[in-house]
Amino acid sequence: MASTKKVAVVTGSNKGIGYAIVRALCQKFDGDVILTSRDEGRGKEAVKELNGEGLNPKFHLLDIDDVATVDRLHDFVQQEYGGLDVLVNNAGIAYKNSSTAPFSEQAEVTVKSNFWGTLNVCDKLFPLLRPHARVSNVSSMVSQMTIKKCSNEVQERFKDPYLTMDGLKKLMTEFVSLAKEGKHEAAGWPSSAYGVSKVGVTVMSMIQQRQFDAEGKEDIIVNACCPGYVNTDMSSHKGHKTIDQVLPGLREHRHVQPQRTQNH
Ligand code: NDP
Repeated sequence: MASTKKVAVVTGSNKGIGYAIVRALCQKFDGDVILTSRDEGRGKEAVKELNGEGLNPKFHLLDIDDVATVDRLHDFVQQEYGGLDVLVNNAGIAYKNSSTAPFSEQAEVTVKSNFWGTLNVCDKLFPLLRPHARVSNVSSMVSQMTIKKCSNEVQERFKDPYLTMDGLKKLMTEFVSLAKEGKHEAAGWPSSAYGVSKVGVTVMSMIQQRQFDAEGKEDIIVNACCPGYVNTDMSSHKGHKTIDQVLPGLREHRHVQPQRTQNH
């Protein structure tokens, strides 16, 4: 029989900000914490390091791009705990500024992981969320800068308070298609694959909250947040914050209904 113990899942937590979130949850959260990684070796090594600090996260494999691993995590959480209390969608990628990969590739690969991968995890794990559950989708302030670089028409589409998840999926698909044809700028989109992917994550979070509210779910809150500029592999260690300075200051973008005039 499933335990009634509380449980938290953090994606992409073998290093960087996700690792620090697991460490903080192990110290403060009244329940089990699952450190996930797309690579078993890196994940188990991270668990071992935390064990050395007297902390005991559990490991589970999860590649947010691989639906089979998402399914296996879902089944594990359901069987072991019968529900989910905290979900931190932290896993993400960014091409380096110096990357010579074509923009079409950067757009497709970045949106695939940061937007579609995160959405896949949510779609699969949300049915497990218990009353009072909390979901944090790690977005970025870059999304706010990026939306301002979109044409008025594209901005309006993202900011539509009645935008549905299908509508958002269409927008993200459109961006990648246009990028592949080299037509995204002419169509009002900026040349920031990471930025657009994170606009997608922030707007996704708003839609998810609206859906939970409409379904009358009991006190489930979805946030999009920005950790600030953090010293990790992603920032090539240029960020001024350490991974452990992120947590008290995780800035919420919002967990309320968006207004037409608000920025993302
Ligand atoms: P890191 O590159 O240090 O860590 C990213 C983590 O995500 C790694 O564990 C990585 O695994 C994992 N990951 C990447 N792709 C996948 C995938 N497909 N499936 C599962 N795990 C995956 O980045 P940060 O810690 O800096 O970033 C964490 C989050 O914070 C990201 O969403 C990022 O966009 C966001 N962020 C970061 C900022 C910063 O200044 N660092 C600023 C704003 C937002 P692996 O080790 O296998 O590559």
